[in-house]
Amino acid sequence: MKKPTKFIFVTGGVVSSLGKGLAAASIGALMELRGLRVTFIKLDPYINVDPGTMNPLQHGEVFVTDDGAETDLDLGHYERFSRASIGKGNNFTSGQIYDAVISKERRGEYLGGTVQVIPHITDEIKRSVEAAAHDVDLVIVEIGGTVGDIESLPFLEAVRQMKLEKGEHAVSLHVTLVPYIKAAGELKTKPTQHSVRELRAIGMQPDFLLCRADRELPEEMKRKIALFCNIQADRVFSCIDVDTIYALPGFLHKEGVDDKLAAALGMWTREPVLDAWKEIVRRSLQPQERVTIGIVGKYVDLTDAYKSLNEALRHGGIANDCGVELRFVDSEKIEQGGVERFLGDVDAILVPGGFGVRGTEGKIEAIRYAREQKIPFFGICLGLQMAVVEFARNVCGLTRANSREFNATTDQAVIDLMASQIGVVNKGATMRLGAYPCQLQEGTLARRIYGRPEISERHRHRYEVNNTFRASLQDHGMILSGLNTAHDLVEVIELPEHPWFLGCQYHPEFKSRPLDPHPLFASFIRAAMDHQARR
Ligand code: GLN
Repeated sequence: MKKPTKFIFVTGGVVSSLGKGLAAASIGALMELRGLRVTFIKLDPYINVDPGTMNPLQHGEVFVTDDGAETDLDLGHYERFSRASIGKGNNFTSGQIYDAVISKERRGEYLGGTVQVIPHITDEIKRSVEAAAHDVDLVIVEIGGTVGDIESLPFLEAVRQMKLEKGEHAVSLHVTLVPYIKAAGELKTKPTQHSVRELRAIGMQPDFLLCRADRELPEEMKRKIALFCNIQADRVFSCIDVDTIYALPGFLHKEGVDDKLAAALGMWTREPVLDAWKEIVRRSLQPQERVTIGIVGKYVDLTDAYKSLNEALRHGGIANDCGVELRFVDSEKIEQGGVERFLGDVDAILVPGGFGVRGTEGKIEAIRYAREQKIPFFGICLGLQMAVVEFARNVCGLTRANSREFNATTDQAVIDLMASQIGVVNKGATMRLGAYPCQLQEGTLARRIYGRPEISERHRHRYEVNNTFRASLQDHGMILSGLNTAHDLVEVIELPEHPWFLGCQYHPEFKSRPLDPHPLFASFIRAAMDHQARR
């Protein structure tokens, strides 16, 4: 008999930003270490049909999956902490659910019936969750937002129904806040009590509580919370702020979270072996060496906009037992002059992906500086594009070189739309999204770093290196080391007369994991360490 799939429904209470996504990801990591096959689903209450169009300043980065889904950044945590492969079916917004129901209604699938939140929206939510729950032992379903929000009600109702239908095969875990009030010198349980009451009012009794606090909860406080919230005392856990997010699996295991969840779901599993995570924590907190990376970008105040990038750089550090200091430099400031003032003392320079003209000249200036001073340089997506523009202008003598994105009329658009894209009006439709193969040329830095001739990486961009200018770039010494031969596109560039100068059109940061650091980031951090030693 096929074993039934088990479900953990994760909700959040009191305030947002409690780290529900990280908690869910860490629990998934532990359950995998117990030998289970795990997947994740994130239900987002907002109305946007496509998280890809949301401003990163408001919502953090857009995480891109292999199948080209533009998703919430929590999906990035899921992939980094586990082996789960996440795709379009793992993230649903209210907008997508309503869109599906309204389309069915337009097609007449409800046969003239009155279409309502219950049962039609809730059924669509349940159907979407079930559809993603195949070939795994356990599904962790995270409901975005905070209990009590109007927006999340249909999701919570759907989850309530699913929990009832699944009986012993589903549990719910509520992540809540236990604030420490300085004046009273006490941790306060009232917000948690209210949050659980709110959940119970809509028919959901949480089975587990994960209490975020700045210190571990004393046993008697756990018992008090348990009593007031109608929960078994050994199912109330502390969750403190950890020094590195990679310490979270270990911390939750010490609290007994995975043990108790597995028992409650009737899953007989082995004890997890956490040695690899422990070493990651050790290298994160007590690295042998340290480097500083200058990141020249636009969203310097909200570093969540570069979440995966920041993590991938840290993974590169972990690979080298090296701490990585990130210094975000506003490219517009560089435009006012004095690039050396901002970047003179960094060990390497990175220009990340981005959209829009603001600050691009500052990025170009930073790249010129890195190229001329032989400082390790890594350009990602827009970073590659700006490196090509810089090289075209300052080395090839193409003084009007630019990207078509920033200059509609230049005759030297070294970055341009492909012929097949020109004339397509709908911007969204022209984005190259998701995984594409890339062939690496023998004898290049890229080929050496990856150690194989063909790779697959994730894309999210509209513009490409203009093939008309390939010969000129190559004649002046740029190496086009990675190509998509099927579509005849440049994917990786490098400069041989430089210790480490590489740009890629794709986003390698989406595929880096602490247990499996991306080779480009590992090599880039190594180059930063070497540069530091040379100075
Ligand atoms: N704006 C550029 C493009 O659309 C780069 C995008 C990116 O860096 N993700 O091609």
